[in-house]
Amino acid sequence: MKKYKVPQLEPYVGKEELENLKKVIKTKWLTEGPFSKQFIEVIKKFTGAKHIVLANNGTMGLYLGLLALRIKKGDEVVLPDFSFIASAASIIFTGAKPVFVDITDTNLNIDPGKIEEKITLKTRAIMPVHIYGQSADIDPILEIANKRNLKVIEDAAQGYGVFYKRKYHTGTMGDVGMISFFADKTITCGEGAVVMTNDDKIYEKLLYLRNQGRLRSGSFFSPKLGMNFRMTDLQCAVGVAQAKKFKEIEKIKLRNHNLYKNLLKDEKNVVFIKEEDYTNIVPFRTNVLVKDQKRLCEFLEKNGIMTRGFFYPLHKQGLMKSLGYKYDDKDFPVTMRVSEEGLSLPVFCSLKEEQIRYVCDKIKEFYNNC
Ligand SMILES: *Cc1c(COP(=O)(O)O)cnc(C)c1O
Repeated sequence: MKKYKVPQLEPYVGKEELENLKKVIKTKWLTEGPFSKQFIEVIKKFTGAKHIVLANNGTMGLYLGLLALRIKKGDEVVLPDFSFIASAASIIFTGAKPVFVDITDTNLNIDPGKIEEKITLKTRAIMPVHIYGQSADIDPILEIANKRNLKVIEDAAQGYGVFYKRKYHTGTMGDVGMISFFADKTITCGEGAVVMTNDDKIYEKLLYLRNQGRLRSGSFFSPKLGMNFRMTDLQCAVGVAQAKKFKEIEKIKLRNHNLYKNLLKDEKNVVFIKEEDYTNIVPFRTNVLVKDQKRLCEFLEKNGIMTRGFFYPLHKQGLMKSLGYKYDDKDFPVTMRVSEEGLSLPVFCSLKEEQIRYVCDKIKEFYNNC
């Protein structure tokens, strides 16, 4: 593997996580146990969600949520064209069709003004995705859902610590919401997720679906059809330690993010994603739109800086064509543009100030010489 001067990511784990892991090993209880319960309580308190179940990862969490909402073959689910493939794949695995909507050119979240034109008689749900550490504008989405009798399932994979209007945690405003704890998310368990709901009936469905169609492990009677979407206490032990560090993680990431903004403020070829008033931001990366993205990335890579572009438009993914779905590029001008101009700069906690300065110097050097 290539050794980078500035890698893209490093999870912020250490002593505390290790201590908790030791405790799990000592008890010899590896599957969901005391730490899983504690993790659920911690996340509940932090997000304000009424009910939470664990899921083995965010992708499966979305799938679980869609199953609990009874999304099935023949249905359509509306979601932004700009997201990770998992948002669309979870829908496709239920048999439903993903129907894409363009994003706003401000903070790259789903454009609520373009949702209604995509709604048909088959539409059953809207899946807003809270992208790059900012909340989507949820109120108009809930309004449309209400009016049209649609479910809302929030993909808050990247939304831990992000509150809509400083008050409502992402993933707690719709019928179902998911937060991921994959290694590159704000807090991590390696793999893992929570599925949240404020609805007692949906909660019960989630419980059956996630654990072999029964409410309790250790029982061999399954009144319903279920699967295994469980986590382990090892993962939750890491999660509990991570949740305690959130404030620190947020602070360091914001400091790093602001340093980029400051160092690059006079570089007109680099445009920062707008930060909307209706949301705080917990930087997922420092996301910018840049001129000459491909060549800049090559230059940075040559200088030992690991680069990441933005998501590729979902409607253009090869798998959509192989499924027989047809989408028109003209419907997605913003996604098409930002997916070509986007660049994600690392903001992870153990990044050093001199590394950020180095990245910014190299960016400036690139534009000065071209
Ligand atoms: C990471 C991510 C997912 C999937 O979560 P996993 O835990 O990696 O399965 C889904 N949607 C978005 C927007 C993500 O960033």
